[in-house]
Amino acid sequence: MANSEYEYVKREFEFDRRLPASNWIVVRIDGCHFHRFSKIHAFEKPNDENALRLMNACATSMLEKFPDIVFAYGVSDEYSFVFREETEFYQRRESKILSICVSYFTSVYGMKWKDFFPNKDLREPPYFDGRVVCYPNMKTIHDYLAWRQVDCHINNHYNTCFWMLVKSGKTEKEAQQTLKGTFSEDKNELLSQQFQVNYEDEPAMFRKGSSVYRDKVETKVKTDDYGNPIKRIRLAITVSNLDIIGPEFWGKHQYILQEGKYRYEYVKKFDDIRRLPCCNWIVVRISACQFDKFSLIHSFDKPNDETALSLMNASASLMMEQFPDIIFGYGFSNEYSFVFQENTELYQRNERLILSSCSSWFTSFYMMKWKEYFPSKELVQPPKFEAEVLCYPKPKIVCDYLSWRQAECHNRNQYNTCFWMLVKSGEDENKANEILKGTLSKDKNELLFQRFQMNYNNEPAMFRKGSCTYRQKKQD
Ligand code: ATP
Ligand code: ATP
Ligand code: MG
Ligand code: MG
Repeated sequence: MANSEYEYVKREFEFDRRLPASNWIVVRIDGCHFHRFSKIHAFEKPNDENALRLMNACATSMLEKFPDIVFAYGVSDEYSFVFREETEFYQRRESKILSICVSYFTSVYGMKWKDFFPNKDLREPPYFDGRVVCYPNMKTIHDYLAWRQVDCHINNHYNTCFWMLVKSGKTEKEAQQTLKGTFSEDKNELLSQQFQVNYEDEPAMFRKGSSVYRDKVETKVKTDDYGNPIKRIRLAITVSNLDIIGPEFWGKHQYILQEGKYRYEYVKKFDDIRRLPCCNWIVVRISACQFDKFSLIHSFDKPNDETALSLMNASASLMMEQFPDIIFGYGFSNEYSFVFQENTELYQRNERLILSSCSSWFTSFYMMKWKEYFPSKELVQPPKFEAEVLCYPKPKIVCDYLSWRQAECHNRNQYNTCFWMLVKSGEDENKANEILKGTLSKDKNELLFQRFQMNYNNEPAMFRKGSCTYRQKKQD
């Protein structure tokens, strides 16, 4: 095989880190620079209801898409997703779970924006970063959610007072000064005395945040012979703004967080901040998930849709503008690898932040550029990209990594070229696969030449070689 010389880079440098069994996995995502984002898009302060509803709609889509998410809790620009304890989602592989959640959320946020802000253009790509935390038992997962809701209360209480003061004519500094050192009762008093507002009457969504879960609902399925309705209980995804700190909610919804049958006794400490070793070259590889379906739905040309490849390249260029530490990008089909300069201090080399924000940014750029590249094709399904972070100690190994990806591009493209030529000439797909089974590179070249009078080497270089993105010296 053409790539066997380089495959050691996968064997020796790619690890599947799996999250410990018998733990609840929580992915918490948070909007990046949403202070600025909310200003640019003129969100109402302190709470823009449409922005919160948009976040809730994205969380609902997450539960629809990923059935192993059993509960989500969101406030402001953040959302936590709790997976069922025994989930085998991507075999509990951390980088897959994190990048796919962040990417899908970003992509749905972009797609649904118009539904919630019909009169506002998205002026900047929204993006999110995320982390994964594991909670070993029922108590800690309840406490985690309670912590987020307490945080919601504290922030919202403060922000409500702050914006009341500002809207009544105080400067932001004066408002801060007034609130400094105040307790909860003081804030309630300030609201009722100065503004005749009872904090408890504020909308529950602002005070309690939003929970998304599957609730039991009774629905009429049919009527019996006497015309009486026959009802069934089914689970429907619901958004509510209830208290999740006290025992009441969890008492009524015991089925949501169920402990698994096979509980391990040990509790492994899960390290949350992993910094990538210094003096190593960081490579982030992004690749689209379930793109086979995505490319069919959007009727991409087969085997290579040139516009789709150009869109990937355009997104990669934007990545290089966004992250000056990226020195080189290489992509083909639905993947792109980004090489960072050796000493990058991006996110202090925190692996999860690099992973999640790169997949979110790439997703957002892809969404923003879609219209430009496919002006007459509606984006009907949110794309999602997974990401891996890889680390190489020497530039030679980075080069071998890139050679490996290019060899892979060659292998796949040569195969796909033959496959689609056969299919387009009338063979069915199974037969085409059968014909190609076990063939070597030269057999494929021969097949193309003999059957289709086609010289593989004359195919466009973008298809055969993939694309490189880098900065070139230019004379001004
Ligand atoms: P970081 O990148 O560190 O997360 P950030 O600017 O996103 O920085 P956060 O602490 O996450 O800071 O705070 C979120 C910001 O977004 C707050 O300033 C908040 O006012 C604003 N924001 C988020 N959602 C809304 C909303 N629905 N209505 C009004 N403002 C919002
Ligand atoms: P997974 O979720 O496992 O990654 P996938 O469907 O994304 O599954 P890949 O092995 O990544 O599988 O395959 C990518 C698919 O996307 C192939 O079917 C390929 O034909 C299609 N594809 C990617 N880019 C293009 C393009 N530019 N033009 C046409 N098809 C493309
Ligand atoms: Mg934020
Ligand atoms: Mg936040």
